[in-house]
Amino acid sequence: MKKQSILSRLMEYAGNFQFLTYSSWLLSALSALIALVPYWYIWCIIYDILNVYPDFEKAQSLPHYGLMAVLFALLSMLIYTAALMCSHIAAFRIASNIRSISMHHIAALPLGFTESFGSGKLRKIVNESSAATETYLAHQLPDKAGAIATPCGLLILLLVFDWRLGLLSLVPVALGFLIMMNMTGKEMQRKMKEYQNALDAMSNEAVEYVRGIPIVKTFGQTIFSFKRFKATIDNYEKWVIAYTKQLRLPMMFYTTAVNGVFAFLIAAALLFTKNGVSNEFLLNLLFYIIITPIISVTLTKIMFMSEDKLIVSDALSRIDSVLDLQPLAEPSHSQKPMDASVELSHIRFSYDQKHDVIKDISLRIEPGQTVAFVGPSGGGKSTLANIISRFYDPQHGSVKIGGVDVKEIKKEDLMNTISFVFQNSRLIKASILDNVRLGKPDASEEEVLDALKAAQCMDIIEKFPDGIHTVIGTKGVYLSGGEQQRIAIARAMLKNTPVIILDEATAYSDPDNENQIQKAFEILAKNKTVIMIAHRLSTVANTDHIYVLADGRIVESGNRDSLCKKNGLFAKMWNDYQSSVQWKVKKEA
Ligand code: ADP
Repeated sequence: MKKQSILSRLMEYAGNFQFLTYSSWLLSALSALIALVPYWYIWCIIYDILNVYPDFEKAQSLPHYGLMAVLFALLSMLIYTAALMCSHIAAFRIASNIRSISMHHIAALPLGFTESFGSGKLRKIVNESSAATETYLAHQLPDKAGAIATPCGLLILLLVFDWRLGLLSLVPVALGFLIMMNMTGKEMQRKMKEYQNALDAMSNEAVEYVRGIPIVKTFGQTIFSFKRFKATIDNYEKWVIAYTKQLRLPMMFYTTAVNGVFAFLIAAALLFTKNGVSNEFLLNLLFYIIITPIISVTLTKIMFMSEDKLIVSDALSRIDSVLDLQPLAEPSHSQKPMDASVELSHIRFSYDQKHDVIKDISLRIEPGQTVAFVGPSGGGKSTLANIISRFYDPQHGSVKIGGVDVKEIKKEDLMNTISFVFQNSRLIKASILDNVRLGKPDASEEEVLDALKAAQCMDIIEKFPDGIHTVIGTKGVYLSGGEQQRIAIARAMLKNTPVIILDEATAYSDPDNENQIQKAFEILAKNKTVIMIAHRLSTVANTDHIYVLADGRIVESGNRDSLCKKNGLFAKMWNDYQSSVQWKVKKEA
């Protein structure tokens, strides 16, 4: 599978458009051969002129030859245009198929994947790698067909007129080819890859740098923050120089060889004309001097083509890096959860296949219960919540919702059972109405308004003259993190699933917002199974059960009072929390 040629890999994406790609090659080769015909007429013109010299009046056929040369040149251009049209249609179709196949694949991947892979990197792979195949298919491959046809045609022309001169013009061609092969070997491929990686790293770091400017400005850390960006620039510089240096010598020899054809010809001419010059020989020599530059042009074309082939092969392997990721297995027959219970048994999970971040966790949450995951940062709270909603599959153990293994529930059914309100809820660039409607696409405006009301969003709506039709992300429309989370809660209210996972924000912009969010959470949680990831302890008082997670394990569990009595990790956290509240109260008093 991996050993397939680049072309057959690309053709897998071509569908019914394969024939257009092949037609473009045929047309391009034909155009290249026809482009040689004018040279034949040029030979005829020189022949006539030399024959009638000095009585040029007798050269009657010259206008005819001239016209024919122009006509054939035009015909060749016309056919080449047709070739490019075919190749472009096929190339755009293939690039769009690559995009569509990778996007479908990404959609089937575990939801947590885009988070860890980086959406920017993903976008770059899908967009830029498919674009790289576009240039290759639309221009380089038809040009290659032409570039191969030209030397074949030339070979015939060169050997027909004077085989000795013909063979001599081929010596530099052979030399050029040898050097070219040397240039595009394994070592070059490796350097090219390093160069591409360095380029990627530099542009990623540039984005990070620009994103971090507000922080840099706030903390006045100019040189420090610049360090990583500078390191990637230095690394890029290193590989660009290495790549260029590697090419320097072969490129010099190559250019000298292919452009030095005339030197061979002149040396040969001196040798062959020791016993006098015939008209015929002079004619052939002139013709060869005219025609041999085409050799260097075609060779240079072929050379750059092989370099681009490396770019495409790299692009395809980047796409493979996405396509090779295992999608979540979908059951053929979906079973529906029987109730709103959640049961985990012996869950083990690791992001890197080496270190378990969840270490053998089992628990059962009864329908309608509200539970909280608390514990030190990095203890595994978010990861466990992600596993419950099948953003990731655990390496070991099972997750059951309503008595059914989540692997036996179709994605759609699972999404209709669980909703997730993220810490940093992302809203899309659409109206508030449409953002909320994502939870239930066929909801009426009234239903959306009810959900917004229940989610305490009316003050947000009233702020804007367009109300729920205000488009988020347009000029002048700014929503704070807390406001965005409230709209996300409205979305979850509309979706109205029996199980809800709430990832509480680590910090709220102001107490007012916090109160509103708490109120919205309470309304959302009514009669539902709720799992709350509590980053602070203020919200755990009203929960039925608390699980304290540390280092990937449940170290304690129970309700607040029983946990406080235990004098363990929770009691310590609770005391710290209490004294911080008292400190705050004293300070405000
Ligand atoms: P919590 O929510 O309790 O703060 P997390 O579940 O976010 O903890 O993290 C648990 C561990 O898993 C941490 O050591 C964290 O560094 C690691 N981790 C979290 N997300 C990822 C990820 N996408 N890739 C690799 N490691 C991760």
